[in-house]
Amino acid sequence: MDVRQTRLVEDLAGVFRGELFVDPWRRSLYACDGSLYQIDPLAVACPQDADDVATLVQYASEHRLPLIPRGSGTTVSGGSLGAGIVVDCSRHLTRVAEITEDTVRAEAGTTLSQLNRQLGAIGRYIAPDPANASTTTVGGMLGVDAAGSRAASIGSMYDAVVSLELVTADGTHWEAAAGLPPTFPKGASGGSHVVQMLAALQDVLDQQAASIAASVRPGLVRAGGGYRLHGVRRPSGLDLPRLLVGSEGTLGLFTAATLRTLPLPRERGALVAVFDSLESAVRAVPALMAEQPTACDLLDRRLLNLARDVSAELSALLPASSAAALIVEWTALSHRELLHGLERYRRRLQELGSGCEIRRESVVDEEVDRLWDLPRQVVPLLQRISGRERPLPVVEDIIVPPEQLEEFVHRSQRILQQSGITASLYAHAPVGQVHMRPFLPPPSPHDGGQLRLLAEELYGAAWDLGGAIASEHGAGLSRSGWMRRQAGPLYPAFQAIKAIFDPQNLLNPGKIVTDDADLMLRHFRPMEPASPAVLDLQLRWSPEQMQNTAAACNGCGSCRTTQPQLRMCPVFRCLTDEAASPRGPANLVRHCLTGLLPAHTLGSPELKRLADLCFNCKQCHRECPSSVDVPHLAIEAKAQHVAQFGLPRSQWWLNRLLDAAGSWNRLAPLVNPLLTHATFRWWLERIAGLARQRRLPPFARRTFLRQLRPPYTVRPATVDERTAVYFVDYFANHHDPELGWACVRVLEKQGLKVFVPPRQKRCGMELVSAGDLEAARSLAEHNVRLLADLAREGATIVCSEPTAAVCLQQEYPLLLGTEDARIVAERTREAGALLAGFEARGEFATDFTSVPLTVGYHEPCHLRALGQPRTLRDLCGLIPDFRAPRIEAGCSGMAGGFGLEAANYERAQQIGEGLMRAMDADVWTMGLTECSSCRLQ
Ligand SMILES: Cc1cc2nc3c(=O)[nH]c(=O)nc-3n(C[C@H](O)[C@H](O)[C@H](O)COP(=O)(O)OP(=O)(O)OC[C@H]3O[C@@H](n4cnc5c(N)ncnc54)[C@H](O)[C@@H]3O)c2cc1C
Ligand code: SF4
Ligand code: SF4
Repeated sequence: MDVRQTRLVEDLAGVFRGELFVDPWRRSLYACDGSLYQIDPLAVACPQDADDVATLVQYASEHRLPLIPRGSGTTVSGGSLGAGIVVDCSRHLTRVAEITEDTVRAEAGTTLSQLNRQLGAIGRYIAPDPANASTTTVGGMLGVDAAGSRAASIGSMYDAVVSLELVTADGTHWEAAAGLPPTFPKGASGGSHVVQMLAALQDVLDQQAASIAASVRPGLVRAGGGYRLHGVRRPSGLDLPRLLVGSEGTLGLFTAATLRTLPLPRERGALVAVFDSLESAVRAVPALMAEQPTACDLLDRRLLNLARDVSAELSALLPASSAAALIVEWTALSHRELLHGLERYRRRLQELGSGCEIRRESVVDEEVDRLWDLPRQVVPLLQRISGRERPLPVVEDIIVPPEQLEEFVHRSQRILQQSGITASLYAHAPVGQVHMRPFLPPPSPHDGGQLRLLAEELYGAAWDLGGAIASEHGAGLSRSGWMRRQAGPLYPAFQAIKAIFDPQNLLNPGKIVTDDADLMLRHFRPMEPASPAVLDLQLRWSPEQMQNTAAACNGCGSCRTTQPQLRMCPVFRCLTDEAASPRGPANLVRHCLTGLLPAHTLGSPELKRLADLCFNCKQCHRECPSSVDVPHLAIEAKAQHVAQFGLPRSQWWLNRLLDAAGSWNRLAPLVNPLLTHATFRWWLERIAGLARQRRLPPFARRTFLRQLRPPYTVRPATVDERTAVYFVDYFANHHDPELGWACVRVLEKQGLKVFVPPRQKRCGMELVSAGDLEAARSLAEHNVRLLADLAREGATIVCSEPTAAVCLQQEYPLLLGTEDARIVAERTREAGALLAGFEARGEFATDFTSVPLTVGYHEPCHLRALGQPRTLRDLCGLIPDFRAPRIEAGCSGMAGGFGLEAANYERAQQIGEGLMRAMDADVWTMGLTECSSCRLQ
């Protein structure tokens, strides 16, 4: 801690009620956002409420400390980074205070989808539609004046604002609404200061009236970045939200807002048309615009190529020959009108001739949503592109008058060709908003010149056509250096306004108003290892592999989602803490490798504490747009700690108890009563950390493996792919041999020859998740030795426990790094998926008897982690009278042994609460799931 940090902590103790972090690990989590940049903050503060924000701002003002407001940190411009105190509003400022007939009052950290979920219940919504609605916060959206595909018809965040609550640089807490005098909460001071500030603002606006009027770019649907001055001075008074929205935290910290809501659109139609060239798609736009669509998004060939890999549905939708596509949406007051709209769009597109084909159209709401999956799913996938040259978010926010879109696309393609750079292109055509991402190596301070030149030419072309930059994603670090040129004669007004609102330049300094024309080339996030000194890695991966894994995280923040359709990240959903988001471990490991944190801190207790927040459910790896293997980064960090400091005592005991499980089976009549005995459970909790509240499953008198007799225990003389080598794992073996037998019988029923290697041991996933890789490796070596030859001869290794399948497929290769482990991984199948595969090939015996039952099906995280197209549940429909509707209520909270531990009990209950509630519903007789841990919950 430096002197300023020590003082900050001491001074704010007992005054500031939220969390304040100055340790390097926490700070480093806030050193990056969704951009290419990295700045280590002085501290991180998570205020509890608006009063806390005011306290913090007053203190910062007295001590001249910069403040950088932050929501989810998803901005791609670097706007939420800075060297001062980062103020994380997403942690506690998440209350929705009031919902009226047509407005909602929400705090700054509320995410758009949280808000819209609540509003949806009364048939309303907040209209601006940024693509990352599930993560972006009200404060962040106000900060950059976010908008989306439907900006032309429903506007941007500014259009939704009724009033804004903010804290300005001296700590005054007040409310701004268009045409109304400022208001102050009860007991707030500083009113006269705000009145003076607004009088000074008025003077500047009056003095600059001519430049303000001259600055308006006719034809531009949305203003570019910088302060929006036109229209602030009105006969009725100041329209302060107009100035404040889009000010990127440089004029005040928003604490809450009252936002206008709209009725959910009732009748929506959409179509997807593909084109034989980008030019013909762009040329089609004006004809479609004549019909006033609510949205018309353009996707280029690169995005379509990605889309085809997402799903068979998208692949069928987009022929390989298509060079571009338009997704067009319109609304109507009646279904008849909606169909008329469809006719008109069809006609318009037919008139364009042969270069265009409508591939799909729909006037059904859910299907329209499915069509929107095209850009929503595909644009983030740009991040999945691996290799040295990746699509960079650096010149991605350009807007031109819509009628100039064709010319801009033409000019930009020429610029790219001349520079020998390829780029992806995605555009909201009705507003002329172009999101272009050039494919370039991650820039370093030394080679940013190419980026600057590209920006110079693209921005020049946009300005030349009456366009602007930074209209949707903010100026941040990547574009603030260009604001002086964009604003021209208006720039002194920007400076004057900044000086009025923030005389000490403490609020997000350097953003919008800066003297540094080359700001876009500074603060690039380092991607290369800081020194060749390599850690002794605990997983069997190379330093480059680990480095590339960490570097694949672009900070987009999608893993902070709370969308019910997604599963990542159960822990973040419960804690809503940046440290618990999957991007946390990715950032920390990268910082250890690239120098922001010393390399040896990878194994430090502090980092272990943060890595322990990840319980290895693997949902982020599956759902992250860049497919970042966060769980293995967290495992490596935990293992580094275990290698340096050893295992915690309770973990050591737990492992020993599991190793001795066979003995507990033999003593089952004695042990089982003890499992419900309070004193014994107290002792078990003290010794092995097993939560005493958790009901533990009784031990079987004989393990499944000891019940087995030949022929199951005899290695078949000939082995082929109809040989099922059953890997039973811990739970079925020790607690539920019936399950093991059921699996054997089902496999036999399907004509498979079943062999159960009698000397197999448990998979050891709980050891992997805890970072005890030495013990995990010993189990893996044992099991792989038993299985490798069988796998090599073509046998299928079958797991009834999804966690075991994940462990054999995904953990053993990284634990052992051997060819044997690779082959075992390759030949391992989860039982349900194996059988569903037979069914798909017509090789499945279906002479089932009726089972008149409805069960609620929960898909375990580790089953999802296997990414199998069809599973056991797909077979349930073949059983007469048996129903297994899917429960979509997230993770059970158990994650292998995680939920069994006393330290995690409360959290596991919190995570699994939704699922438990859903399971309790009267509509099903019982629950169904493949995972034994989920069953315990
Ligand atoms: C995958 C992806 C898709 C995106 N799609 C869109 C899109 O369709 N449309 C669009 O407009 N943008 C889009 N964006 C970028 C957009 O800038 C952000 O997603 C979003 O609006 C920022 O929200 P946030 O909560 O993450 O804010 P942050 O990134 O934390 O902050 C954004 C800016 O607002 C300021 N700010 C944050 N909170 C406050 C506050 N309380 N008071 C004052 N200032 C504050 C910050 O200082 C910063 O300058 C996308 C980004 C990603 C990664
Ligand atoms: S882990 Fe994935 S989803 Fe999360 S920030 Fe990184 S790239 Fe985005
Ligand atoms: S593996 Fe699961 S717990 Fe760990 S970061 Fe990913 S989603 Fe969160």
